[in-house]
Amino acid sequence: MSKETLQFQTETKDLLNLMIHSIYTHKEIFLRELISNASDALDKMKYESLTNPEILGENKELTIQIISNKEARSITITDSGIGMTHEDLINNIGTIAKSGTKQFLSDLKAKNSDINAEEFIGQFGVGFYSAFMVADSITLTTRRYDSEIGYIWTSTGDGTFSVEENSKITRGTSITLHLRSTTEEDEFNYDSYLETYELESLVKKYSDYIRYAITMDIQEAVWAKDADGKITGEKPDSYTTITKTLNSQVPLWKKDKSDITQDEYTEFYKSKFHDWEAPLETIHYKVEGNVEYTALLYIPTKAPHDFYSPEFKRGISLYSKNVFIMEKCEELLPDYLKFVKGLVDSSDFSLNISREILQQSRQLKVISKNIEKKVLSTLETTLGENREKYEKFWTSFGVALKHGIYSDFMGALGVKDKVQDLLLFKSLNSDKLTTLSEYIGAMKGEQKFIYYASGESETAIKSLPQMELLKDKGYDVLLLTEKVDEFAIEALREYKEKLFRSITKGDLELSEEEKKQAESLTEINKDLLTTLKEGLGQKVGSVKISNRLKNSPVCLVTDEHGISLEMEKIMAELPSSMPGMKANKILEINPNHPIFTTLQTMHNNKQDLKEYADLLYTQALLIEGFPIENPTEFAQKIANLMVNASK
Ligand code: ADP
Repeated sequence: MSKETLQFQTETKDLLNLMIHSIYTHKEIFLRELISNASDALDKMKYESLTNPEILGENKELTIQIISNKEARSITITDSGIGMTHEDLINNIGTIAKSGTKQFLSDLKAKNSDINAEEFIGQFGVGFYSAFMVADSITLTTRRYDSEIGYIWTSTGDGTFSVEENSKITRGTSITLHLRSTTEEDEFNYDSYLETYELESLVKKYSDYIRYAITMDIQEAVWAKDADGKITGEKPDSYTTITKTLNSQVPLWKKDKSDITQDEYTEFYKSKFHDWEAPLETIHYKVEGNVEYTALLYIPTKAPHDFYSPEFKRGISLYSKNVFIMEKCEELLPDYLKFVKGLVDSSDFSLNISREILQQSRQLKVISKNIEKKVLSTLETTLGENREKYEKFWTSFGVALKHGIYSDFMGALGVKDKVQDLLLFKSLNSDKLTTLSEYIGAMKGEQKFIYYASGESETAIKSLPQMELLKDKGYDVLLLTEKVDEFAIEALREYKEKLFRSITKGDLELSEEEKKQAESLTEINKDLLTTLKEGLGQKVGSVKISNRLKNSPVCLVTDEHGISLEMEKIMAELPSSMPGMKANKILEINPNHPIFTTLQTMHNNKQDLKEYADLLYTQALLIEGFPIENPTEFAQKIANLMVNASK
């Protein structure tokens, strides 16, 4: 194969442009990213060689080597890891497969805002490209362990890259960065990266825990000494080159908790899990006994960009005796806690365990249960001790907990009991978020239910007519604005023996007295209600006297057991839902509104009454945010009404 020149995918081009022009000051993180890629490649090689040690061939050492070349102004990072095939090269380096990148980049371009490179790298896992922050050209050579042929990839980040076959390349990957030159206006000295002491300190800072030796040749001074071993002379006699291992190689999680600073935990988290923000919580614990393992878990501060997309993969990395076994082991984490990142190291697993056997392993189930408990208890503690921090968590991941309750509708996994005390809600009576237990604590003496209402926004919900009487009584109402909310509430059914009640469903059951009053009014106005119902035909299930309205003439509600108005809207958006999933609508009329008196006086004019019924129904639809069935007809009827009024 001769040399081929290929175009970067558009997103990659945009990304490279951003990297090249980034004024981001932590350019040094490029080293962390490349070392972390090298370490992953070594992990994979180690794993492959477990079953078949021969594949290591002559090159048995799994290491990372850094070379600084001052003359050429280059740094090379070489690993003896798994390497890449031609296909890997094209797919991994040159294309960004992650969904969402395109949108993110075009938003950025539109806003013309400056990029925080680390944030971008963290969100999309595109560490390799960060090298273009410091390099004006990159050469990457690679050969996969089971391939005869290697490849040389080069690019100046200008929109194209070239790939050439080469049969002399040894196993693994080697990346040479030709550093940018420091210009006058640059406040940045790229040459500092050529200094071995600088590279050494960066490795110490970001990559100390990497389990493979990171080595570098450094010049060590040789001093002339006298017979007692004392240095003579003011300058070194000569220099000698020694190969130094720069990192301590102790996996962080193996260290004693008391020997680890929060900074170390955070650095480890950032480099291992590609996040740019410090984690919200760090959980590190060891378990001894029947099942032995160490877990290092993190609750991130922000949700990754694809967290709520179906492509998001949950999981905890699995290690056995410091050796990496698998990334994103799903079995270690229930779905509703999918935001947790981290790793488990257990000597109970054999290194070459197959995925199938692993899935059924009893140990894995025990560990998973423990992780679930630990995470839940950490969240409970945070909620109790640091409300502000917990609310941050809630903003990022609350929806995941609510999805959890809904997905466990039948209660087989007990999610409801596990998370109901961790839920937070906006509510009518407070600017702050409330827990269910706080809601119950603040309930009025005669209040029987936990009331809730759903809608597009807080403001929209607060102005719902169905809210009027509750407001008057000072009852608090949970305000639900996420799509999943109402489904989660339906799945909860009750909290501490208090049932949930939607303000737009069934009877509010405010008081016996009000109920009786509504019943007697219904009796008196039976004919009127029947005529109105006739006017509306199949549009509504019934027309009723309302006991939840104060100022509005009408509102729509649904019966207690069917789907709600909000659910009807959500269902209508779902491609998979069955047609005809409609709420059984009930038109409620406010008996204290002047319109009601007007209607009562019209009872002889059935035709007009039916027209009015339709107008009132359409108004109620509008308030609920439903599209109206025939806007032209509605406008016409209003116009007629105005004309008649002026006669
Ligand atoms: P990420 O590491 O987050 O996946 P990168 O852009 O840094 O994103 O790398 C893209 C992919 O390129 C990696 O997932 C890996 O498959 C491959 N890759 C990068 N560096 C190496 C390396 N040193 N050896 C083998 N494969 C590598």
